[in-house]
Amino acid sequence: MTVLSPLKASKKTDYSALLTSRHRPLGGYDYLIVGAGFAGSVLAERLASQLDRRVLLIDRRNHVGGNAYDCLNAAGVMIHRYGPHIFHTNAQRVMNYLSQFTDWRPYEHRVLAAVDGKQVPIPINLTTLNTLYGLNMNSAEAAQFLAARASPDIDIVSSRDVVISQVGLELYQKFFEGYTRKQWGIDASKLDKAVTSRVPTRTDLDDRYFQDKYQCMPSMGYTHMFERMIDHPNIDFFPETDFADVKDTTKYAHVIYTGPVDEYFGHCYGKLPYRSLRFEHSTLDTPRYQDTAVVNYPSLDVLHTRITEYKHLTGQVHPKTSITHEFPTSEGDPYYPIPTPENAVLYRRYEELAGQTSGITFTGRLGTYRYYNMDQVVAQSLSLYGKIAQAMGVSVETEKAHSQSMLAAA
Ligand SMILES: Cc1cc2nc3c(=O)[nH]c(=O)nc-3n(C[C@H](O)[C@H](O)[C@H](O)COP(=O)(O)OP(=O)(O)OC[C@H]3O[C@@H](n4cnc5c(N)ncnc54)[C@H](O)[C@@H]3O)c2cc1C
Repeated sequence: MTVLSPLKASKKTDYSALLTSRHRPLGGYDYLIVGAGFAGSVLAERLASQLDRRVLLIDRRNHVGGNAYDCLNAAGVMIHRYGPHIFHTNAQRVMNYLSQFTDWRPYEHRVLAAVDGKQVPIPINLTTLNTLYGLNMNSAEAAQFLAARASPDIDIVSSRDVVISQVGLELYQKFFEGYTRKQWGIDASKLDKAVTSRVPTRTDLDDRYFQDKYQCMPSMGYTHMFERMIDHPNIDFFPETDFADVKDTTKYAHVIYTGPVDEYFGHCYGKLPYRSLRFEHSTLDTPRYQDTAVVNYPSLDVLHTRITEYKHLTGQVHPKTSITHEFPTSEGDPYYPIPTPENAVLYRRYEELAGQTSGITFTGRLGTYRYYNMDQVVAQSLSLYGKIAQAMGVSVETEKAHSQSMLAAA
């Protein structure tokens, strides 16, 4: 496993000087991009490399990569600082794009849930049902077992309805009720149906968490991929730099803002609610801690929702192992937009305000108050880039052809 190099400190030093000096003329940028996660970094890369734009990319954190940031901890084990990030997509375009900056290691995600003193696969599958109930059903019998418990005729409005309609009250209570309450701080009956609709139920032996065509991890980690992405002479990247630090002191033609949209507008309509997480990282003096990368703990009797062991994801060989307990909380960094009807209404007010504000474009998970997976944010950023390119009269087909040729050459 490669040791990740820190981002160039000299650039930051130069930039601080630039900000504080009244006499030094500022070069000026075509774009100020706020946030160096997937949304900001993909746009910076595209605008710099394809349209020859000068980009100032900033992040208030001390690193690139946003929530997907990974690094070696003090013991030398690769961890994901903001919780496990598993890459999966069906989008060929996203895969082609990212493959310019990384090689991949195959990885299919599997999750166990600690229920009734056992660890069983989640999403629920044939093994889950047979293990929990001490049965030996085949797929057809499992389908009948679920059908006898499901309530398919109920009106599906909430996340609770989705699950009960498919598997009935008992399995809902075992796997979803406590987990959802801990994760979101509210009952599943108050949450948009989209949250649990993402979790399938199976009656076969497939125990993969995702079924996407591409399931893999960047072979040298996400941070390495991001560093390659933004390594371009047209991009200046400054960590530990907030939008407030540069907005009035730097010349730029347009802002692309991937931070929270409500924060940009000073929470003028009130705060958009987010769910946050507290991560407790620890390193153990053993090569292996648990059977899968993630084990969920749905019971309300334990405070954490899941434990992740990173070596399953990274394939790293190391005599020690590192794990993370996740504790959901309402305080802290904004991680998950809370999908309730009231919050959707509040977001629409900010969206309208954003539409009336010139010189700035909001994008990414926080800029558009939507839970997106990484591949969806990459797709969103490539689409936004496509619109900018078209407005400048540059054919996106040319850009796509360029990506393809880069891929072929890699
Ligand atoms: C715990 C967790 C697990 C996840 N697991 C997965 C997974 O397994 N698979 C998957 O596909 N997706 C996963 N995701 C989703 C994934 O993290 C997002 O899709 C992705 O990070 C979104 O990228 P982004 O650039 O929109 O936002 P972010 O990654 O949040 O980046 C936004 C950046 O903007 C910066 N910023 C904000 N405001 C300012 C400001 N005023 N000035 C300067 N900088 C600012 C922030 O510091 C941040 O670094 C997970 C998310 C979480 C929270």
